[in-house]
Formats: sequence, C-alpha cells, structure tokens
Amino acid sequence: MKTTTLTLLLSLASIVPISSQTPDPAYLQPEGGPYVFNETHETCLTEDQRQLALQSIKQNIALLRQDNKLATDHNRLGGAHILFSWPIKKADGLDYNDVWSISGYLDHNTAYPSQLTDYNCGTKTYDTAAGYNHAGVDIYTWPFGWKMMDNDEVEIIAAAAGQIIYKNDGQYDRSCSFNNNVWNAVYVQHADGSVALYGHMKNGSLTTKSVGDMVAEGEFLGIVGSSGNSTGPHLHFEVYSQIDPDILIDPYTGSCNSLNPDTWWIDQKGYANPNINALLTHNTPPVFPACPTTETPNESTQFELDDTIYFGLYMRDQVAGTSINLKIIKPNNTYLYNWFFDFTANYTSSWWYWYFTGVFDMEGTWKWEATYQGDTVTHEFVIGTLGVNENALEHIAVFPNPVKDIVNINSKLPLEQAVIYDVSGKKIMKISFNGNEGPHYSINTGSLSEGMYFLSVYSEDGQKEVFKLMKR
Ligand SMILES: [Zn+2]
Repeated sequence: MKTTTLTLLLSLASIVPISSQTPDPAYLQPEGGPYVFNETHETCLTEDQRQLALQSIKQNIALLRQDNKLATDHNRLGGAHILFSWPIKKADGLDYNDVWSISGYLDHNTAYPSQLTDYNCGTKTYDTAAGYNHAGVDIYTWPFGWKMMDNDEVEIIAAAAGQIIYKNDGQYDRSCSFNNNVWNAVYVQHADGSVALYGHMKNGSLTTKSVGDMVAEGEFLGIVGSSGNSTGPHLHFEVYSQIDPDILIDPYTGSCNSLNPDTWWIDQKGYANPNINALLTHNTPPVFPACPTTETPNESTQFELDDTIYFGLYMRDQVAGTSINLKIIKPNNTYLYNWFFDFTANYTSSWWYWYFTGVFDMEGTWKWEATYQGDTVTHEFVIGTLGVNENALEHIAVFPNPVKDIVNINSKLPLEQAVIYDVSGKKIMKISFNGNEGPHYSINTGSLSEGMYFLSVYSEDGQKEVFKLMKR
C-alpha cells in the first residue's frame, strides 16, 4: 500500500513539476459549466405568425410591384440560386474571439411533438406540441448575450444582396418565453426571387433603410435581440426559395435535408463549430442572472500583485473527449501555469473559470492563453504599473481635495477602477467602475481615518494616474 502511494506521487511529480505554493491547476476542478440556450424550446414563430409573415411579404411585394419598384419580379426557375455569407458579425472594438453558437437547425421531421431530425440527421432542432416544426436556424450570442445586446456588440448583416421587402421595429426586445409578441425583423428578397427572414432584432436597432431599398451583402440590418417569441438574444434566419407559393429551404446541405439537395452557403460551416469564443480576466466571478437581466461580466484587465484573479474561458461546442491547453504566461514569457483541461461532455456553450491568489510575482503585461483544436487565443492583462503611462490621463480632475466623505473624479476617458493606498503602500480600498462610462465617478471615503493617502486611477484602456489625497 505504501509503495503504491509513493509510486503514484513520484509519477505525478515527474509529469507535472510543481513550482508554486498553490495546487497545480491541472488538478483543480474549475467553477462553471454548461450554458444552455432555449432550454424550454419555445417557438421562434408560431405557425400563425409564420403565415402572417408570408402574407406581409406578399402584400409588400404587390405594393412594390404596383409602384414599379420591385427589383425582382419572378420566382426562381430552378437551377442556380444565390449563396449566403454568414449573417452574424462581431461589432468593431469588441475583444472577444467570437460571439455566437447555434442552438437549433430546421426540423425536417414533420411529425410532432419531439420528433426531431435536423439536416445532419441529428436532433439539434425542436418542434412543439402545437405542430410547429422549427423552420429556421437559431444563432444565439455567447458569452454575455444580454450585455452584448445592450452594447450593440453583435450585428446582423445581410447574407446576400437584395431588396428590403419587410421591416418591423418598435417591439419589446427582452422576451424570455412564449408570449405571442411580434418580432422586430427585416426580410430581404434576392435577385433569384428567394427571401431571407432575419428575426428577433433589438428594438430601435434596425437599418435606417426602408422597404424597397436595396442592401449589399454584408450590410448592417440590425442588432441581435430577443423580440417576439424568444428566450434570449438570438437571430432566427429563415429562407424561402420563392414566395408565391412559398417554398421553405434549409441553407445547410446534408443527408437528412428533406427540402433541397444543395447548400445555400458560400462556405457551409460544420454541424458543430468548436471554438474559444472568449478568454477573459475578472476581478470577481461573472454573474448570469435570470432572463432578461443583463449579465455582470466583472471583467478587468488591471490588477495588483496581491489580487485574486479569475481566469475565464468561454467555449462554443466543446467536444467530449477533447482537451484544451491553458497557459498563464508571465511578462518574461515563462509560464506561471501550463496545463490541460479535459472536456467530458458536449455543450453548445460553456464557461469555466480558475482563480489564484498570492502567486503573481511580477509586474507587467501577462497573458492568459488557450489552444484548442489548433487555434490559439490570447488575452492580455496588466499587473502593477509596468507598461503603463503614468502621466497619460491629462484630462482628469479629483475634487474636493482635501476630502471629507465623497471624492469626485471627472475623467474624459472611461475609468475601470480606483485603488486607495496608505502612505506605507498598503492597499486600503479598491473601487470598480464596471458599467459606469463616466465622465463622473465618485468614491465614498467616509470610512478612512484622517491623513494622507494615494489614489491610483485606472482608465479602461490601461492608463494610470496617481493623486495625493488628503482626508479630513
Ligand atoms: Zn428560430
């Protein structure tokens, strides 16, 4: 027995040299787990609403024809059809690696309920007891879909050029369940007579173009939202090869596609699309409240040496039986940790985080890095003050100073946090400005005793300025 234990310890030691005082992360079970979108399988469009949508399309086409403004006045006569590019785009400036996952394809099995067949002969689709078979592709936003909706961070763009033949805005956009709400949507007819429906958009986000106007491939149509029958922010993308009479198609080719033989994608994506959607660092674990409350990501890229840092991993389509290589890399390019995390289940989206304290031994720019299925994603964060321009925040004011209770900060740059130190350099107070875009910030210093302090103010883009603060 003793020998076995010793051998085991020796073999573990030879695999993973343990150089720090905390457990090696390879032996730590992270917090987190799957994120399940549309768990209740609500409908995107009831059958009645689908018929209404088709009716509106026909009416608008008739009106455009009457005004001599209809760009394409024919149904497709077999043969070639247009091809689609991907209808979802990450907005400029968002530092996530990717922003979407797929919760459901079209249901090719016309029986119901729970008689499911997607184009790939799988069951990644849904139907309802009322007889609705999902007729589109559901692309949801991940991670922090509500946060990304609030900040206009995921755009719906035209998958092919065409004419806007229907547009509806002004509808409530934070649906969480079946409610018979009408969706905000744009429908586009292409040169071959086919029509694409883009549904569930954010209220007030739609293109300023009107019915009858032309859009180019890749042109902005709206922001991903949760209007209509919806359980969270996603795009419902539905395609008809012609409208009168209507012929539904599935843009994905596959052996169980009962509607059409070939793909409608320029470059058809995989059935699953394993990917690292985001690597983030946090000062507190992220919070996912109940629908439709916006998540609190608690993201931060500025830390002190003695902080607890949370290392978040946000996956799309993690595959059971595969593993991901994770690294925390010091400013001198040596590893603090380098380990593998094994995925034991298939999830269309999942989040995991590890956290460490007292192991950060170097100031400067660190890296949090992950490699999965050949792709590497790197996220940088700063510990301490190295690499930071101390005098860059020229347009910042701290007042009153001396201060009694409330100290005000005016800053032209959005601030991330402030830290108050005593004269011995000990951290007394840390204030996070998560969600406050400024320019006014305030800190309650009522709990500080009288004397001199140092106030370090950090901007969201990594700049720092230090002020002497007198407390009375
Ligand atoms: Zn849908």
